[in-house]
Amino acid sequence: MLGPPLRHTLLLLPTLIFARPGPALGQLHADFLRIGARDINKGEFGFPNHLTPLKEYQQALEMDVRIQRQVDKSGNAELTGYVGRLAEQIQRRSDLKGPLWLRLTRSQEHLAFSTLAGRAYIDEKLVRIAENESQLAGAIAHEVAHLAARHGAENISRMRLLDANPSGFLTLLRPCLTIGNPFTSGGTDGFWQAVCYFNEIEADELATQYLWNSGFDPEGLLNLLSVFQDHNWLDAPPGPSQTSSHPPISVRQKRIRIQLKKLPGLEAARLDSSDFQKAREQTRANGVPLSRK
Ligand SMILES: [Zn+2]
Repeated sequence: MLGPPLRHTLLLLPTLIFARPGPALGQLHADFLRIGARDINKGEFGFPNHLTPLKEYQQALEMDVRIQRQVDKSGNAELTGYVGRLAEQIQRRSDLKGPLWLRLTRSQEHLAFSTLAGRAYIDEKLVRIAENESQLAGAIAHEVAHLAARHGAENISRMRLLDANPSGFLTLLRPCLTIGNPFTSGGTDGFWQAVCYFNEIEADELATQYLWNSGFDPEGLLNLLSVFQDHNWLDAPPGPSQTSSHPPISVRQKRIRIQLKKLPGLEAARLDSSDFQKAREQTRANGVPLSRK
C-alpha cells in the first residue's frame, strides 16, 4: 500500500527468524454488527498510532503529489463517476470515517492501492478484469479497509518508532503475531513481511464484512482473488520493504471463508448490475489493456 517514498529508509535489524505458523484462525473483528460505530484502531488488534489525523492528511497530500506524477488519470468521466458511486456506497457502510478521495487511473502498475487519510487509487484495468460488480466492489472494499484500519499511518508510525528504538521491534510487531503469522521477528524484511501479512489479512476480513454490510455478494473479494489465481495482483504490499509480499492467495481465501461463515445470509445479495456491465464494456471498447504495465 505504501509507495516507493517510504522504501529504503529502514535500518537493518538483527537476523531474520522464521517461526512455525501458529494455530490461531479466528476473526480479528468479530463485532461486524457494529460496523461504523466501533473503533477498529485500538485494542488488541490496533496499534498505538503516533500520527495525528492532521499529520496523516499532510503526509497523504505529499504522497499524492509524487503519485500523480507517476500515474495517469482516467479520461473517462462516465467510468470515473460509476466507480466513485460504487466506492461511496461501500464507504457509507464501512468503518472509514471522513471523506473517501478516490482517483480512477489508467494503466498504473497495481490494480488498486491506497495511501493515507482516505485516499485510494483504482485502475481502469480492474473494471475490465472483474467478472461482476461484486468483485469490483470487493477490491474497492479491500482498499477502504486498509484506510479504515489506518494501515498507512500505522506503518509510518512503526517506521519512525523503529528508527528511534531498533530494539523495540517485537513490541511494535506484537499485534501482528496473533493470526498464525509465519513471520515473527528479526531483520527489517522479516518485520515488514509480518506487518504486511497482518495488514492484508485484516483488510480482507474487513472488506468481506463491508461487502456484506453494503448488500453486495460477500464472496466478491474471495472470487476476485480466484480470478488472479496465484498472483497477488490487487495492490502493493503495505510495508516499506521491497521484499514484502502478500500472504498466498490460498491463505487469504481460507481466512475470508472463515469470515463468510460468521456472516448472516443476505436475502438478496447484489452480484452484478447493468451499470457494471456497461462500464466493463467501455473499458473493452477503449482498449484498456489487461496486462500489467
Ligand atoms: Zn491490500
